[in-house]
Amino acid sequence: MLNIVLFGPPGAGKGTQSDSLISKYNLVHLSTGDIFRFNIKGATELGLMAKSFIDKGELVPDSVTIKMLQTEVLKNSDANGFIFDGFPRTNAQADALDGFLSQMNTSISVMLSLDVNEEELKNRLLKRAEVSGRADDADESIIKNRIAVYNAETAPVKDFYAAQNKLISIDGHGSITDITNRLFKAIDSL
Ligand code: AMP
Repeated sequence: MLNIVLFGPPGAGKGTQSDSLISKYNLVHLSTGDIFRFNIKGATELGLMAKSFIDKGELVPDSVTIKMLQTEVLKNSDANGFIFDGFPRTNAQADALDGFLSQMNTSISVMLSLDVNEEELKNRLLKRAEVSGRADDADESIIKNRIAVYNAETAPVKDFYAAQNKLISIDGHGSITDITNRLFKAIDSL
């Protein structure tokens, strides 16, 4: 299996780049943010709970997020591999992911980390808000909080994969195609 953690701060381009990677490598795309939004739309119990965190730019608690992600992985156990987009966002999530992948006799192949400077992130998120309809993209104070939460809780997950020699940093500036080609090159070099 080819199991990729596509990593980076909010607005780094994880969703956009996932589209190119899933078709080239025939992977199942699991975006925890998309799954939460799907549940919010359907007004499920999970969605209502998640909304209270997402609206503030906070992380949904690990216990809930891990269980939800594990269910999705198990539903797709015959996949060629996965792109994990927006997960793991804490070391506890990374640890749990290693645990249940190993129960499936597989593991993370690589973490591809998209590096983008903060000014560019804010601009991209505000621009995305014009089309995404996402409240958490439209409000500058929520964006600021999401980036702060990323720096405090999520960025350390890079060290988790660096310690396993699985971290590859990718320059996330430039055109979408240029960034896609950098990602392809990194994957093809594995
Ligand atoms: P995203 O679409 O990845 O930007 O995620 C949108 C929001 O969903 C985040 O700001 C968090 O509130 C929540 N979320 C998504 N993925 C996770 C995760 N792995 N752990 C906790 N919260 C998450």
